[in-house]
Amino acid sequence: MLLAGTFEARQLAERLKQAFPGLRITVSFAGAVKDLPALDLPTRVGGFGGVEGLCAYLRAEQVTLVIDATHPFAAQMSRNATKACQQLAQPLIRLDRPPWPVQDGDQWIEVETMAAAASALPAGAKAFLGIGRKEIGQFTQRTDLSALVRMIEPPSVPLPARWDLVLARPPRSAQDECALFRHHGITHVVTKNSGGTRAYAKIDAARMLNVPVIMINRPQLPETRTVSSLQDMLAQVEKELARNA
Ligand code: NAP
Repeated sequence: MLLAGTFEARQLAERLKQAFPGLRITVSFAGAVKDLPALDLPTRVGGFGGVEGLCAYLRAEQVTLVIDATHPFAAQMSRNATKACQQLAQPLIRLDRPPWPVQDGDQWIEVETMAAAASALPAGAKAFLGIGRKEIGQFTQRTDLSALVRMIEPPSVPLPARWDLVLARPPRSAQDECALFRHHGITHVVTKNSGGTRAYAKIDAARMLNVPVIMINRPQLPETRTVSSLQDMLAQVEKELARNA
């Protein structure tokens, strides 16, 4: 079973299908976004009901390998997967794309939590919040801020009247991000250190415009077998299949 929710998970699903035609793969999505990728593989959508629910699912479906390719900030799912696989003495492999490294010209203020990110913004800042929809409430409490918020699905809490909202996936081009930041007079960018290429344009744009970035570092995840590339994941899956053959 492939726990999905990232671009890499989608790529991995395709690669697994090609590399191991006999493998029965089910792709699992949280259902956080409505437009799921078309994968031509069996999929399921929605939570399992914690560790217990996940164990029950893995047993019922006779799953022999779990691949965790969720987002680096989807810590609950990764923790649940680790616990469930430990309980069932079942192999688990995590795909963890490397975090973005700080580069020359970056002005990062690194913080560990969303609350710390909200506190790190100076009074009067106009922040770009590219943090998803779940934790936006940490920022709406700061009545001395204004913000431009970008998310894929509409926010779960009402946004302050003077905030701006863009419902979209991140653009690829730093020029587009620069134009957006300039248009809205952005003074700070707030982001999770998600890694990968698809949401990196805002980091390039912040560097180009000399805008500080409040960078939220990744949550700690329990130790498990982890790879950082699709290639290494395919090699690990091959090993597991050979072990089970
Ligand atoms: P989370 O806090 O770790 O997970 C919350 C709960 O959602 C989990 O306990 C689980 O419910 C369910 N869930 C999460 N991923 C699932 C999956 N692939 N299949 C089935 N159930 C899943 O995760 P999140 O931060 O809400 O993220 C939800 C999904 O969006 C993840 O799949 C993640 O990869 C993707 N995503 C997250 C971010 C982010 O910044 N957090 C960014 C991009 C994409 P039960 O306990 O009921 O099983």
